[in-house]
Amino acid sequence: MLGFDRIGWIEKDIPEVGPTDALCRPLAISPCTSDVHTVWEHAIGDRHDLILGHEASAEVVEVGSLVKDFKPGDKVIIPAITPDWEAVESQAGFSQHSYGMLNGWKFSNVKDGTFAEYFHVNQADGNLAHLPEEISVVDAVMLSDMVPTGFHGANNAEVAYGETVVVIGIGPVGLMAVAGSVLRGAGRVYAVGSRKKCQEVAKFYGATDIINYRDGDIVEQIFEAQKGKHVDKVILAGGGLETFEQAVKLVRPGGIVSNINYLGSGDYLPIPRVEWGLGMGHIRIIGGLMPGGRKNMDYLAQLLVNKRLDVSPLLTHRFGNFKDLEEGLLLMKDKPSDLIKPVIELG
Ligand code: NDP
Ligand code: ZN
Repeated sequence: MLGFDRIGWIEKDIPEVGPTDALCRPLAISPCTSDVHTVWEHAIGDRHDLILGHEASAEVVEVGSLVKDFKPGDKVIIPAITPDWEAVESQAGFSQHSYGMLNGWKFSNVKDGTFAEYFHVNQADGNLAHLPEEISVVDAVMLSDMVPTGFHGANNAEVAYGETVVVIGIGPVGLMAVAGSVLRGAGRVYAVGSRKKCQEVAKFYGATDIINYRDGDIVEQIFEAQKGKHVDKVILAGGGLETFEQAVKLVRPGGIVSNINYLGSGDYLPIPRVEWGLGMGHIRIIGGLMPGGRKNMDYLAQLLVNKRLDVSPLLTHRFGNFKDLEEGLLLMKDKPSDLIKPVIELG
């Protein structure tokens, strides 16, 4: 990111490694919709000569003197979020916010990201995970952000056996929220999106009903399919601020609205007073950044190793050269109808 609305290639020094850190070389990378929010929606303010990217699988090139479990040559999964694990927020279970709101999100936010020949990882023992040999370097990139974010949405929604869940937005993040909800035992799963390709893949991951928001008000469409009954949970993974209003209207008393969407613009969320039970409806609204961490990565990787989750349907556009990254990023911005996620294998 050269500045607002501008991307390009720059030269920087290879980062230096502190005693607990690692230097990594990416093996595969993928641009994220969050990179698009950052550059073209100006969501986190201006950044100059910031290296973008927070999704990668990588090879360790160098480690600091205090790193215990990783060495040069190891293949690793890179979590998009790399917290400071000693922070009290981390000890309280909110590593994403170590030392302050969203401060676990370092790559392509407060420091250079993964779209570089070499990148720096803080606290390597806590923030890297060994890549199991059963997982390809390309599939592994989906473990950086798409799988943990979608699953975080399902976790925060506390999806339980037999529940009815609506997932609004079925780009790669929403699709993983569908998959996570199904793995947690959801009964009926409504997937809301308009592109055919995403709808097909949502069915692959277990969506029972497809709702196209371009066909009319989704609240009406879902209440019709539900014969007027509310749903248990709504996960927000796309669309704008209006989705909060829709979600609150859809969930039952005691239900949960779980947002994983990165809200790039606007000042306030519209929460409808009456449907929110006049403030007394026990409808919880939670928004969460995906947690990073080695343990989380290790466990999610087991879903791929044991074939409980197949991420390959997400990878619609595959490239083989670093320079193709620019095309990948622009694809993510323009979202052609057949795109879910581009990935660039670097070898
Ligand atoms: P995509 O842009 O690929 O997907 C967005 C989805 O929302 C599409 O299915 C789109 O439908 C749908 N949509 C658009 N407008 C509406 C609407 N008005 N009503 C209902 N659905 C709508 O995004 P990603 O899946 O890549 O990412 C989703 C969000 O998650 C982004 O904001 C991203 O920045 C964020 N994110 C959050 C993270 C976290 O930790 N919380 C981490 C990573 C990403 P269609 O295109 O079919 O018309
Ligand atoms: Zn991302």
